[in-house]
Amino acid sequence: MPKAREHARVGVMGGTFDPIHHGHLVAASEVAAQYDLDEVIFVPTGQPSFKQNQQVTEAEHRYLMTVIATASNPRFTVSRVDIEREGLTYTVDTLRDLKQDRPDDELFFITGADAVTQMAQWKDADMLWNMAQFVGVTRPGHDIDLSGLPQDSVKILEVPAMAISSTNCRDRARNGQPVWYLVPDGVVQYIAKHGLYQQEGTEVSQ
Ligand code: ATP
Ligand code: MG
Repeated sequence: MPKAREHARVGVMGGTFDPIHHGHLVAASEVAAQYDLDEVIFVPTGQPSFKQNQQVTEAEHRYLMTVIATASNPRFTVSRVDIEREGLTYTVDTLRDLKQDRPDDELFFITGADAVTQMAQWKDADMLWNMAQFVGVTRPGHDIDLSGLPQDSVKILEVPAMAISSTNCRDRARNGQPVWYLVPDGVVQYIAKHGLYQQEGTEVSQ
């Protein structure tokens, strides 16, 4: 992809993506438009640190669904940094690895606004603020309490389509209900082709 400027503005959308759904894609697209981003990198997690008591679909499936879902958007890319790193996934490691490859770029980490309010408890939280701008996406009309967080580093953006969750998509697939239009068509077909989400997992919604 040709770079529009010397210091590219790059969104980073971390997630389990089990499966990726239109909520993720709308959020990335809205933040890209609002912050004039050149690129959004989707980063499927390895084992997420906050989902240790939960069965997560094997990384290659989640990676491939993310590739399928983002393939048609020239500004969307997918990184393997988190799935190739051993151990639990922490945002500080994600940002450090991405920054190493693109030291001149400005990073915008996109995450659900609920997660943003927990950021002070993330690994190496005080380092995070200088590594990226954090954009918490929230549903319209939902107030988020940002007290205790550095105001310059954390912004909130309202996006539609927030009601969709991967937990709900998995439940639907398991119960034989449609996931059409909640996830991209290719992801519907990928789930069916590989028989994903047919068995009961030890799932907890996050
Ligand atoms: P699960 O239900 O398994 O927790 P999820 O739908 O929350 O899955 P994740 O992969 O955990 O999806 O989310 C990745 C990122 O996307 C997180 O920052 C999360 O807050 C955000 N996100 C999840 N759903 C939406 C949505 N509908 N709209 C915008 N952002 C979302
Ligand atoms: Mg979640």
